[in-house]
Amino acid sequence: FQFRIERLGPSPASDAVAVLALNDLTTLKRMEQMRADFVANASHELRTPLATLLGFIETLRGPARDDEQARDKFLGIMFDQGSRMARLVNDLLSLSRIELNEHTPPAESVDLGRIIQAGADALMPLTAPRQMRLVVTIDEAARHVIGQADELAQLAQNLMDNAVKYGRDGTAVEVTLRVATTLPAAAGPALRDAPAVVLAVRDHGDGIGKEHLPRLTERFYRVDTARSRTLGGTGLGLAIVKHIVNRHRGKLTVESTLGQGSVFSVYLCGAKAQTEAVSSALSLS
Ligand code: ADP
Repeated sequence: FQFRIERLGPSPASDAVAVLALNDLTTLKRMEQMRADFVANASHELRTPLATLLGFIETLRGPARDDEQARDKFLGIMFDQGSRMARLVNDLLSLSRIELNEHTPPAESVDLGRIIQAGADALMPLTAPRQMRLVVTIDEAARHVIGQADELAQLAQNLMDNAVKYGRDGTAVEVTLRVATTLPAAAGPALRDAPAVVLAVRDHGDGIGKEHLPRLTERFYRVDTARSRTLGGTGLGLAIVKHIVNRHRGKLTVESTLGQGSVFSVYLCGAKAQTEAVSSALSLS
């Protein structure tokens, strides 16, 4: 590395060019490595349920052909494995679609409050049997954001799904959408210039160890792989969230305390026109 810079750089200006070129090369190499790792991980994740499926098909065609009881049981397992593959393929497709559009931020005004409420209602069948409560609080002044409705629905869904999945039975999951009074340190210019809002999803589960926090949004990174799989996780939910947040020029933060739970917060640009209309209506009343 050093050697090439010296040989390439008779003047300070060409030194700088050489360093830039080498940095680009290193970035390129790192990206190639990440892509190769991703393909390997995705293939591995698909191969496991596929092998199980093929194994059971073989058994059903052979030794278990006439065993009605075994057939029902095996078909149930095959359905679960097929569903797992379908979830994985859907998540992989979502991820590549969002990544493809990442350089063009969306510009629609979206009623995020309504999206969150619909997502929370859809989780009722999962929360009710576990005596969990999903408590949704929407600040009217923060209801509208600049974004893309389907992506925001997926973002909210992934965070609420996780809070329910990793939350404890009998506890509450608190979902709030409010005007952001402070911004995270690394907030970009889009957020700083906008009336920012924050969607916070808090659970009262086991929490996440500090050492895992920086890696949570990596594809296929799981704190406890077996637990994630048992709960139907693909390991891609937070990677999808991160890419949606990036495309929206927002910011994702996480705070967690072991034994107490976690709060995932997404800062987004509030929709100016809608926010102004609502707040003037409020100040009149
Ligand atoms: P998964 O499909 O495995 O849930 P995610 O990308 O959504 O994948 O999350 C990555 C990992 O982060 C999970 O496997 C889990 O270990 C951890 N995680 C995510 N959300 C929570 C949460 N609310 N509480 C505890 N752990 C969480």
